[in-house]
Formats: sequence, C-alpha cells, structure tokens
Amino acid sequence: MIYLNGEYMPLAEARIPVLDRGFIFGDGVYEVIPVYSRRAFRLDEHLQRLQHSLDSIRLPNPYTPAQWQTIIEHVIMLNPWEDQSVYLQVTRGVAPRDHAFPKDTPQTVFVMSNPLTTPPARQRETGVSAVTALDNRWLRCDIKSTALLANVLLRQLAVDAGASETLLLREGYLTEGAASNIFVVRDGVLLAPPKDHRVLPGITYDVVLELAQQHAIRHEVREISEEEVRSADELWLTSSTKEVLPITRLDGQPVANGKPGPIYEVMYGYYQDFKRTVMRGKNT
Ligand code: PMP
Repeated sequence: MIYLNGEYMPLAEARIPVLDRGFIFGDGVYEVIPVYSRRAFRLDEHLQRLQHSLDSIRLPNPYTPAQWQTIIEHVIMLNPWEDQSVYLQVTRGVAPRDHAFPKDTPQTVFVMSNPLTTPPARQRETGVSAVTALDNRWLRCDIKSTALLANVLLRQLAVDAGASETLLLREGYLTEGAASNIFVVRDGVLLAPPKDHRVLPGITYDVVLELAQQHAIRHEVREISEEEVRSADELWLTSSTKEVLPITRLDGQPVANGKPGPIYEVMYGYYQDFKRTVMRGKNT
C-alpha cells in the first residue's frame, strides 16, 4: 500500500501524469527511512534533511512534520512487514514542459514502503568489494535529489566489476559512495569526510559519529586523500538500508589483511545496541 497526493491505495493502482516534472526533469527530492519493528528510525532527522532538500530546490514543503509523521505511520501500518524501508518523494508537480518553475502547481507527493533487507551476516563477516571512480556529479550533492543519473552510472561501474559499491574521488579526495557514505580507519582513528556540498549528509553517518563520540572511539572529520583510502586499515560504508558494512577489497586489492577490522566489529555492535534502545522507545 502506498500514499499518493492525499490517498492510500495499492501500488498497482497508483498513477501519475507523464508531464510530472519528476519524470520530465528529475525535479524532485526524496528520503529513504528505515523502519524497525514498525518504528521509523531517526524520523525527525530524515524530515529535517527533507526540509533542507526542499529549501535548496525552492519547493515549499507540502506538509508539517506532524502531517508527514501521520502519513508515514499510516503507510507503515498498512503494510505487512515489521521492518520496512519507507521511500518518499516530492516533485514540483505536473505542468507543461518548461524549465522555469510552474506557477500555482501542487507538488506531487508519493510514499511507498518495501521490506527492509539489511545485509546478510555473511556479508558483514567477509566484507564487500568496492571500486573507485572520479566523482563527476554536480556540486550540490547535499541535496537528496531524485535526479540520480550520475549516481546510477557510477553505481553500475561497481555492478559491472562484480563489486558492491563505487567510492568517489574528487580532485584527489574521498567524497562518498555512489549510494552511501564512506568511513576510513587509519592508525586506530576513525576518519570521515566533512559534510559539505560534495556529499549527502547521511543520517547513518551522523549516528556512527555520535556512537564514536559516546564510546570514546578516536575520530576526526577531515579531508581524506586517495592515498589514505588506498592504504587504509579499514574502510566502511554506511547507509540507512546497509547500516554499517565493511569494505574488504578495493579495486581488486585487499583492504589491509582483507578482513573486517576490529573497530568495525565494535561499531557494528554499538549500532545494533543503539537500534534496540531506539526500538524500546528510550531514545530516538
Ligand atoms: N550518500 C549517498 C549518495 C546516498 O545515496 C546515501 C543513501 N542511500 C547515503 C550517502 C547515505 O545516507 P543515509 O545514511 O541517510 O541513508
């Protein structure tokens, strides 16, 4: 069951006009929110990021946070799975094709949910492979835009190489993954690229840094060079659906000894504990 412009309906019945600017221009923004035991994880933070994306593309938010919460909780309730991945999208609506903003056009709002499939234990135990590529995206990667052509092409490079993710390098420095944020461990210090216009401000990225802070894991937010990535002790990727996952091969070479590292193992444990606390309603 999905939500579309004020109505709940089966996905197969949902229709939008072909002149929707999301279809014509990719003129819209989105969010992906993980749901554990029917509770949306970090909902406030996802709605704040949505607001940032909408403000950045000068599109008014059609709903208040409370209205969003009601819709999202309703979609969760109408679907059969305990753990879900809620996808929401807002576009600049339906209008004759013209680049300029249309006047008085209501936004198109779509919310769907899928079963949440977090990585299987085997992937966490062995780690995944990644490749590198030049980050050829635009300079507003902080906007969670549905215009994802560059990300699609970059991610496909990984798939073509039999790998799971593409790590992006801009002017010799790590930005993020095609669909994830990237962390690096060197000499016992967790390193993260700064959140600026070159990366999506990941909700999982923030959770990982908060957990590092709470548990006194040494960490630093700073520029990370390609050389530091290639000679890392550990590489991780983070996202709402992948959680925290070790990368153990990069461009066909093992990362350090080719096994998930000790700091990954502790962080993964902290992340799972944190999720359980949230699900008990003690924290958000
Ligand atoms: N960067 C990019 C480019 C992404 O698409 C995503 C989400 N898939 C992330 C980072 C991770 O963000 P989050 O932790 O909020 O899922």
